[in-house]
Amino acid sequence: MNHDAIQLRTVTRHYGTGDSTVTALDQVSLAFPRGTFTAVMGPSGSGKSTLLQCAAGLDRPTSGTVTLGGTDLTRLSETRLTLLRRERIGFVFQAFNLLPSLTAEQNVALPLRLAGRRPAKARVRAVLEQVGLAGRARHRPTELSGGQQQRVALARALITRPEVLFGDEPTGALDSGTSRQVLSLLRGMVDGEGQTIIIVTHDPMAASYADRVVFLVDGRVNGELTGASADDIAARMTKLEAVPC
Ligand code: ADP
Repeated sequence: MNHDAIQLRTVTRHYGTGDSTVTALDQVSLAFPRGTFTAVMGPSGSGKSTLLQCAAGLDRPTSGTVTLGGTDLTRLSETRLTLLRRERIGFVFQAFNLLPSLTAEQNVALPLRLAGRRPAKARVRAVLEQVGLAGRARHRPTELSGGQQQRVALARALITRPEVLFGDEPTGALDSGTSRQVLSLLRGMVDGEGQTIIIVTHDPMAASYADRVVFLVDGRVNGELTGASADDIAARMTKLEAVPC
């Protein structure tokens, strides 16, 4: 079995046409091994969101291929891609995106309901327990702190046991203490259960929880750091941002 959860091969993504074409990703080839935690960093406009969206099947590359565990996402119909996202991919966002009228456990159960499956109570409780929120199952989002809301969002993303968990600035709306709690939880999922995680972040502290940090500049991979400290990552970012356009 391929040991990569996701592979991008010469992925290019253009936006627009003619003179106004923007190349958001330029022939990016990257592999994300199973059971590893990767952070993607780079200056604003370097293509981080586009990379995440293409890797997660939320956007389609203009050319190149994205493979998830042997399935080429670029060849799937919209319907198949939607099903694949629902069943095999988890996503957490900066803004949590919980439904305010639903309790924590109802939010967590939602992906299974959307897939037409009856959510097993024990499974919902188990994921809430996993994120340390077993005691908050009946609370609504407004009755929870930001960190707790993000942990509910994490439980919701994990309920389907996704092959890859993506995070777009997952700690962007949290203070540093709360960010650390969420990041420790992510780290624990990788170390304890072999979860594959890919996040985009601006925060060197957040990126230091990853095994590997991939740097993007102008839609291209500009290098990577493995097992780096927050200080090393911050120094690298400062250097990248100083590069003249
Ligand atoms: P980052 O996440 O690193 O800030 P993005 O992936 O959002 O970068 O954007 C990369 C480049 O693509 C930028 O120049 C951005 O303006 C452009 N871009 C992103 N999305 C669109 C879009 N929907 N239409 C046109 N240009 C876009």
